[in-house]
Amino acid sequence: MRAMVLERPRTPLVLRDLADPEPGEGQVLLRVLACGVCRTDLHIVDGELTKPKLPLVIGHQIVGVVEAVGAVVDGSVTVGDRVGVPWLGWTDGSCRYCTTERENLCDAARFTGYDIDGGYAERCVANAQFCLAIPENYGDVEAAPLLCAGMIGYRSFRFTGDAERIGFYGFGAAAHILTQVAVHLGRRVFAFTRPGDTEGQSFARDLGAEWAGSSDEPPPEELDAAIVFAPVGPLVPVALRAVAKGGVVVCGGIHMSDIPSFPYELLWGERVVRSVANLTREDGVEFLRLASEVPVRTHVEAFPLEKADQALVAVRSGRLRGSAVVTLGQRLP
Ligand SMILES: [Zn+2]
Ligand SMILES: [Zn+2]
Repeated sequence: MRAMVLERPRTPLVLRDLADPEPGEGQVLLRVLACGVCRTDLHIVDGELTKPKLPLVIGHQIVGVVEAVGAVVDGSVTVGDRVGVPWLGWTDGSCRYCTTERENLCDAARFTGYDIDGGYAERCVANAQFCLAIPENYGDVEAAPLLCAGMIGYRSFRFTGDAERIGFYGFGAAAHILTQVAVHLGRRVFAFTRPGDTEGQSFARDLGAEWAGSSDEPPPEELDAAIVFAPVGPLVPVALRAVAKGGVVVCGGIHMSDIPSFPYELLWGERVVRSVANLTREDGVEFLRLASEVPVRTHVEAFPLEKADQALVAVRSGRLRGSAVVTLGQRLP
């Protein structure tokens, strides 16, 4: 199979011909149809997440078709099924987190496209119990961004409680999906982009944001919650300044530059700052049901496998409207 391989951090991905992987116990073999590109992929390539398996096939928003089933797969997934594979690739099911419905925090978790080879390849294996059914009203390519941008974005959104006025700092793949969800649920969305990104601001308004502006300007009124999707630590005190008493600031990314010190006054008034780590399978099932009901329409830019590096460049630039997706389906017999 063809695969784009990360051999060492901070080097370009290289196109390699690898043997097809074989599904082990509890695993399925997938023919990859599409794989969404996530900012986390950049953090891995850039060496900011420091413990990837190497060499590594990145990619953890995989839409694929089951081609073979390994031993001890219980029938929940069968040959021919179209499934999604998210970032959470395996948990031990036995640690203090797993046994208290917090498998997203599992001490021994293995992550797709980090500990397990991911979807920037024609085939991959995945643990059957961590595969999710893709709603039928989604094409392969448009479904891919739901699997991380959507799901982890949704977990971040849930931590805003019943906030009416929600700010999104960083209007990339996650915010473009969550805006549609939030508006569907009757929330008011305030979108913050990089200063001067007027095109991004009008994209946010098109998707239902009531207000869109630059991250260096205050919103027109106080917010009840904010989600910081951009991996930019200085946005945390900026967001705290924008939320009302009792408001929460959720950091939705896996990596962020340092948060500068700020006066206690910004936190005072029972404001909360918290992070969101990974996802549970329940988050995935719940979000896919909701996305399909809204229905969330993802905006995607497709890149063929061998152009995966260009997809990463596009995500890094911040100029992408929506999500980048590596597509594979059409190149196979
Ligand atoms: Zn565990
Ligand atoms: Zn991701």
